[in-house]
Amino acid sequence: MNPLEAKLKEKSIAPTAMRVVVLDFLLKQSAALSLTELELGMHRTDRVTLYRTIRTFEEHGLVHRIEDGSGVTKFAMCQTSCNVDGHHDLHIHFYCTQCKETHCLPKTHIPEVSLPSGYLALDTQLIVKGLCGSCNVAIT
Ligand SMILES: [Zn+2]
Ligand SMILES: [Zn+2]
Repeated sequence: MNPLEAKLKEKSIAPTAMRVVVLDFLLKQSAALSLTELELGMHRTDRVTLYRTIRTFEEHGLVHRIEDGSGVTKFAMCQTSCNVDGHHDLHIHFYCTQCKETHCLPKTHIPEVSLPSGYLALDTQLIVKGLCGSCNVAIT
């Protein structure tokens, strides 16, 4: 079996041609992408189909969304521990104010936040802003 199809099946996603193409594109990215960037990077796709594909990926723990404060939602690949039951890799994201790229920092987990009783957390985002490795080198 094609490794891309295998990766989709691993997350219980039926490997349609469209999903394989989107996954292939996502795996080639070094930074998180917005829906618009995905659309621009992948020709011959319409926005609605692309959005539906990303939603399916998100629901099955293949990608996660990132709100980095730039105003647009971005998406990045998940770790293997995420699945249809939920995302289990809450990690910090780094937003570079110079190149505007957002990167996952999967080794830096978000600490458990204590909430008042009766409160239920559905999503936790922790963004660190600054200069990424390449931009920091370029400036100094
Ligand atoms: Zn940068
Ligand atoms: Zn991430």
